[in-house]
Amino acid sequence: AKGEGRGTVTVFEPGMAESRRDELILEGALKRALDNGELVCHYQPQVSLSTGRILGLEALVRWQSPEMGLVSPGRFIPVAETSGLIVALGAHVLREACRQYMRWFDQGANPGRMAVNVSGRQLRSGSLVALVKAVLEETGMPPESLELEITETFLVEDLAIVPILSDLKALGVRLSIDDFGTGHSSLARLKDLPVDKLKIDQSFVRGLSEEGDDQAIVRAIVALGGSMGLDVLAEGVETESQRHFLQSLGCEVAQGYLFSRPVAAGDVSLQAVFP
Ligand code: C2E
Ligand code: CA
Ligand code: CA
Ligand code: CA
Repeated sequence: AKGEGRGTVTVFEPGMAESRRDELILEGALKRALDNGELVCHYQPQVSLSTGRILGLEALVRWQSPEMGLVSPGRFIPVAETSGLIVALGAHVLREACRQYMRWFDQGANPGRMAVNVSGRQLRSGSLVALVKAVLEETGMPPESLELEITETFLVEDLAIVPILSDLKALGVRLSIDDFGTGHSSLARLKDLPVDKLKIDQSFVRGLSEEGDDQAIVRAIVALGGSMGLDVLAEGVETESQRHFLQSLGCEVAQGYLFSRPVAAGDVSLQAVFP
């Protein structure tokens, strides 16, 4: 209800919705945030490990709340998912990311590719293909510069999405499997998915500095991607030693705090991050 408004929201901890009631309050606040333009994109570079050049940017949503400050998506995406608000939120993010890409493009900067996260619920909504088509048309975004990131867990769970992925590919956009390595996809399944890229989950990158399972897993994913003709990106790279290990394995692209945190559009530098 309207009366529940702001006062309630200030004391509320998003992501900690314990009761159905808490969830409804957050849902209401999130819906207003979307209407008020409080959901903004930050951008994190995806970097070539051989040249230091920025090959693309990932759009990551943030809630710029007047009451709570900058709220991270881990705290509100789950509620957006269960409530279905993720469909409108996802459309907003996709549109904003493509618009921003074209702003850079029109200024003569080359952002490479723009990667946008797509949730399972959005994929199943039945409207994603039409949305992507419409946004490409209205923004003038080159389809091959747009990359949609879909988590591995979701791709494994739902066989019915393969035709949707094919429809997206037919629009000319690229598809990437997010959090790869955490979703137990079989090789047979992977072979059937029309994807272009694997993003190695950051949990495996974290342990790269010491010899052990994580090194073996990352080595295996890089080899798998190579043999299937897929790009491989390592997420969550924070240290030089992780970077060196990835380079020694022939992993071509990386993303992480070592290169840049996700930042507001105005703070993005499209210069090479090294040498
Ligand atoms: P993700 O897609 O796996 O995004 C990577 C997350 O790791 C981001 O967290 C990013 O800020 C963080 N990260 C990047 N580099 C490093 C690093 O070096 N170290 C560490 N520790 N973390 C790093 P963020 O922005 O909080 O997003 C969390 C998750 O929320 C995302 O995980 C994604 O699943 C979801 N998300 C974010 N934006 C959207 C969106 O627009 N739509 C949907 N459906 N989900 C989104
Ligand atoms: Ca992602
Ligand atoms: Ca990820
Ligand atoms: Ca994740």
